[in-house]
Amino acid sequence: MDAQTSLPNLPTYADVLAAAERIRPYALQTPVLTSRTADAESGAQLFFKCENFQRMGAFKFRGAMNTLAQFSAIQRQAGVVAFSSGNHGQAIALAASILGIPATIVMPHDAPASKIAATAGYGGKIVHFDRYTEDREQICAAFVEQHGMTLVPPFDHPDEISGQGTAALELLQQTGPLDALFVSLGGGGLLAGSLLAAKALAPACKTYGVEPEAANDAQQSLRAGKIVLIAPPRTIADGAQTQHVGHYTFAIMRRDVEDILTVSDPELIDCMRFYAERMKMIVEPTGCLSLAAVRKHKQQLRGLRVGIIVSGGNVDLSRLGQYFA
Ligand SMILES: *Cc1c(COP(=O)(O)O)cnc(C)c1O
Repeated sequence: MDAQTSLPNLPTYADVLAAAERIRPYALQTPVLTSRTADAESGAQLFFKCENFQRMGAFKFRGAMNTLAQFSAIQRQAGVVAFSSGNHGQAIALAASILGIPATIVMPHDAPASKIAATAGYGGKIVHFDRYTEDREQICAAFVEQHGMTLVPPFDHPDEISGQGTAALELLQQTGPLDALFVSLGGGGLLAGSLLAAKALAPACKTYGVEPEAANDAQQSLRAGKIVLIAPPRTIADGAQTQHVGHYTFAIMRRDVEDILTVSDPELIDCMRFYAERMKMIVEPTGCLSLAAVRKHKQQLRGLRVGIIVSGGNVDLSRLGQYFA
């Protein structure tokens, strides 16, 4: 895939600030937690931005709300369609219901049951597809053509990116400047938005994206200087099973990211256990990417102030049992 080198309307820090104003009435200001145990283990001062406590349980509510709040009257009436391995669908369904917009969510048949149930609970109409044999983009395109719906992609959209950036914006407002920031990475919306906020508020802060080892398409893309497409990856981090990053997200990460790191599924499980046992919170596998990378690279982080975006907390309790068995 060729990455466009210059894209019109790349979002900026000003867009992140505007998004923060726009979503303020709807989104929660999530807490920043600290842990003496985590600090002692890592030798750094860690600040956990707990988006697992955001509405619908992940940062994705921010991007969804920022995008849907800017729909025209015509778009609102025809409704929104989204495809998602889970949290994006929930976020669109919840934001749409708050704004009174009809939402259709196209989901993989093997998405976690809790995510499917929650999406339906937020009022989204669910359409299933097989992620290994069917093309979800074609399915969505049919809804757009036949019903005039607006497709909202999960990450490669300026309004999604600037909405997601409000999590890092808040974190930096809550903690002051950080030396490093670790962000979980699927398609790169959260990372791109975080980079916009961090570059403006803490220019010296080194920001890292973290992917599952089996889904290291962004790392490959960064090394290759162009967007690399991978086969559907198998990892417990279902929110980061993307096959490629976006054009907008890649343009921003290429410009601003310090590096992209990877961690293994067992390292994610160790972090889920740490969060549950020591910090008394449930974090989904994808939400553990950032901490897993901090633990892996702690030698280089000694004495530093480090931000960790805990991106989400939606996990089936039955699967949680398997992970901890
Ligand atoms: C979507 C998601 C991610 C990845 O976000 P991108 O913007 O696709 O990089 C990370 N963690 C959780 C919990 C998510 O839902």
